[in-house]
Amino acid sequence: MAAHVERIVIVGGGVGGVSTAAALRAGGYDGELTLVDAGEFPYDRPPLSKEFLAGAKDFEQLALQRPEWYDEQKVRLVNPATVTALRADRAGVELADGTFLPADRVVLAVGGEAARPPIPGGDDPRVHVLRTAEDAERLRSALLPGARILVVGAGLIGAEVASTARALGCEVVLADPAAPPLAGAVGEQVAAWLHGVHAERGVTTVRAGVESFTATASGLQARLSGEEHPRVFDAAVLGVGMVPQTALARAAGLEVYGGIVVDEGQSTSNPAVLAVGDPVRRRCDGVLLPRAEHWEAAQLDGRRAAATVLGTPAPAPTASWFWTDRHGLHVEAVGEPAAAETLVVRGVLGVPPFAAFGLRGHIVVGAVAVDDPTSVRAARRMIDRATTVDPGRLADPSADLRRMLRG
Ligand SMILES: Cc1cc2nc3c(=O)[nH]c(=O)nc-3n(C[C@H](O)[C@H](O)[C@H](O)COP(=O)(O)OP(=O)(O)OC[C@H]3O[C@@H](n4cnc5c(N)ncnc54)[C@H](O)[C@@H]3O)c2cc1C
Repeated sequence: MAAHVERIVIVGGGVGGVSTAAALRAGGYDGELTLVDAGEFPYDRPPLSKEFLAGAKDFEQLALQRPEWYDEQKVRLVNPATVTALRADRAGVELADGTFLPADRVVLAVGGEAARPPIPGGDDPRVHVLRTAEDAERLRSALLPGARILVVGAGLIGAEVASTARALGCEVVLADPAAPPLAGAVGEQVAAWLHGVHAERGVTTVRAGVESFTATASGLQARLSGEEHPRVFDAAVLGVGMVPQTALARAAGLEVYGGIVVDEGQSTSNPAVLAVGDPVRRRCDGVLLPRAEHWEAAQLDGRRAAATVLGTPAPAPTASWFWTDRHGLHVEAVGEPAAAETLVVRGVLGVPPFAAFGLRGHIVVGAVAVDDPTSVRAARRMIDRATTVDPGRLADPSADLRRMLRG
């Protein structure tokens, strides 16, 4: 570690920021470590569309760390507080109340906001988004049994909200113009099956976008593309993506291009500032990668950022991974299933547990599994090691995946 790194400020207490702090301490950093977060305490987001929205977990259960952890790890938690500027001239950050926190290194872990496209009438209070615990609490109060709910966007969050709302007894319409939604993340065939599950569980799926909302005496009217008559709902939820928080980076003159641009060690264009998590785009071998926007990616970013500051080896690169839960199904995807030439299904597609391995030639490039985490773990190792596989053995649920990994 460079000798002069004595004070680090992390801006943002999501999984990216908290894992950076944890990795710095685990790696032996013993200087000052401050974590500034705008919220009540650093909490996790995936439950917001699942257990928290369903009322099965309360807010305290979302905490990323026990309250004592911050003292134990000598992490000074400054919250609720908002960083309003990175000050390269004074080497530090400024808070909304004017406080200045000096820092040799700043780690931006600022996440993003739920996208709110400019849909006419979209500012009606019955039109929800979902990014924060406050959003989830507000939305939950609308998910009453029998309530008519429109979910716009059948990607990861939209599908989870539709599933949770249905389980709470709502009448749910899920609208998305893509056919099928999520094909880019899990491949066409699995995406089509997953989308079909909504209808089996009583969610009405509509291949359409929303064009406008109008407040009427009978409720919130939504005009869907291609439909002659508007439909009426009690509430709507937009699950149409995230806008990365880049304002601080931009104002500080850092390179921003559809996200905060970082190198393979998470350094921004100013080496004293690193960035992790949802808002970053990593440049690898000269190529700017898309934003990952997944929980584990943010966590790994934090470990990489800590390694850069400490001058220790970075975690080995590994295929990207995410999970999502809907209608009681646990879905995991690894690598790039949509980039496959052929699909090899272990089990029967549509009869969980099953796993679909995407191959290019005889090399696994991605996999999606439903209720089958073991296959996804094996697939990840296959992708990382570029293992050559025999498609026939891969498809046979009785064939041992570990032996295939050994070749
Ligand atoms: C509803 C929902 C469900 C999800 N489900 C899954 C899932 O099932 N699987 C999966 O892989 N991923 C899921 N994700 C994605 C995952 O949660 C994100 O990838 C992850 O939270 C990103 O972490 P982060 O630290 O980059 O950002 P965030 O979690 O957004 O944290 C950023 C933090 O920075 C704070 N902040 C921002 N600006 C400032 C400032 N100026 N000053 C101080 N603090 C600031 C914010 O208040 C926030 O606490 C889900 C996301 C959502 C919203």
